[in-house]
Amino acid sequence: MKKLLIIFISYILFTSFVRPENLTSVSIRIMTTRVITTVVFSPTSGDYLVYGDGELLKDYDPTGIFQMSIDKDSILLKTFERTIGKFASLKFYSKENVGEFKIKAVVPTSRVRTYDGNLEVSLTPDKAQFLLINKVSLENYIAGVVQSEAGKNISLEYYKLQAILCRTFLLSHLNRHEPEGFQLCDDVHCQAYLNKGTEANIVKGVFETKGLVIVDNDLNLITSAFHSNCGGVTCNSQDVWSISTSYLKSVKDTFCLHSFNAVWQRTVPLEDWKAYLQLKHKYPVDDSSKFAGATSYSQANGRNIFFMDRNLKIPLKTIRADFKLRSTYFSIEQIGDSVRFNGRGYGHGVGLCQEGAMRQAVLGYSYKSILNFYYKDVHLVDLSALSYFRQE
Ligand SMILES: [Zn+2]
Ligand SMILES: [Zn+2]
Repeated sequence: MKKLLIIFISYILFTSFVRPENLTSVSIRIMTTRVITTVVFSPTSGDYLVYGDGELLKDYDPTGIFQMSIDKDSILLKTFERTIGKFASLKFYSKENVGEFKIKAVVPTSRVRTYDGNLEVSLTPDKAQFLLINKVSLENYIAGVVQSEAGKNISLEYYKLQAILCRTFLLSHLNRHEPEGFQLCDDVHCQAYLNKGTEANIVKGVFETKGLVIVDNDLNLITSAFHSNCGGVTCNSQDVWSISTSYLKSVKDTFCLHSFNAVWQRTVPLEDWKAYLQLKHKYPVDDSSKFAGATSYSQANGRNIFFMDRNLKIPLKTIRADFKLRSTYFSIEQIGDSVRFNGRGYGHGVGLCQEGAMRQAVLGYSYKSILNFYYKDVHLVDLSALSYFRQE
């Protein structure tokens, strides 16, 4: 009874920060990182209606190919046969939002991408590039993100887990790009969304976990952080981002130790390393009474936060960023005129370790069990129940 009451209260509280109008479809800027000035749109299934500046356009073949290019401050719309006109905005809406279309940048050229749902086209405020916004059902978007973030040919159980993480991220970042007129971008800044989800197991994993998101003990959507490989130990969120959470706590993970990104090496000339310490961190590398060498450093007994050498104390994440290392989980040794970073893992190390989770899924652990392995004291909540409580 007590548990039921907690769940009920959680739904009520939960409704106060998730906007219901955003639960069924989302608006995602696609091709965000490209400055595109000519693009081609073509429907592949479903009937699309085309609107130019809000007016339904007629007298064109709706199954055809549309080319859009920037002409001064407007969008010039053409089919193969003719020029249709100039517009400030265009909308390609499929009936009941069940269509699928292909899109390809022509200037500069890109590969063809396929998406579900609708497309809205306008120009950025400086009129220098297209603003392409995909209006797509929430779960179809999640399938596209799961495929982009996790890749193909992974187990169904892992895809379920990844779907829940990506859905949780989406719902806790719905306002991220609001001033720009969309919700999330398709770049890693938000979540990669480079195509629709096409693999059967991905679509299945998304729809079998439909609506499920993760909340913490205070009933807030969690920061569903994940990374490629933790190297054997995940990180506390406060050690990496200076933000303490109840659920992003360091855990030992032996499941990823033999995976693809488990270990790495990087060799740097000793002179470059010394110059770096001297110039960036003002460390007296020529004063042997103060400088021990900084060429022997170990994290063999677990992860550290700082690189230390006598009075030297540098956040490992600074060194990782400056040398573009795969992780902060490295030791250093001198080999002749070089220093070698012997590293473990790939990524920031906070939250779920993808390769460890994939291995657990292969070994037969359920997505719920894997979730609770990497996130402490979290709960799965079904969004579909929220609308029921909203109507109460
Ligand atoms: Zn973004
Ligand atoms: Zn791991």
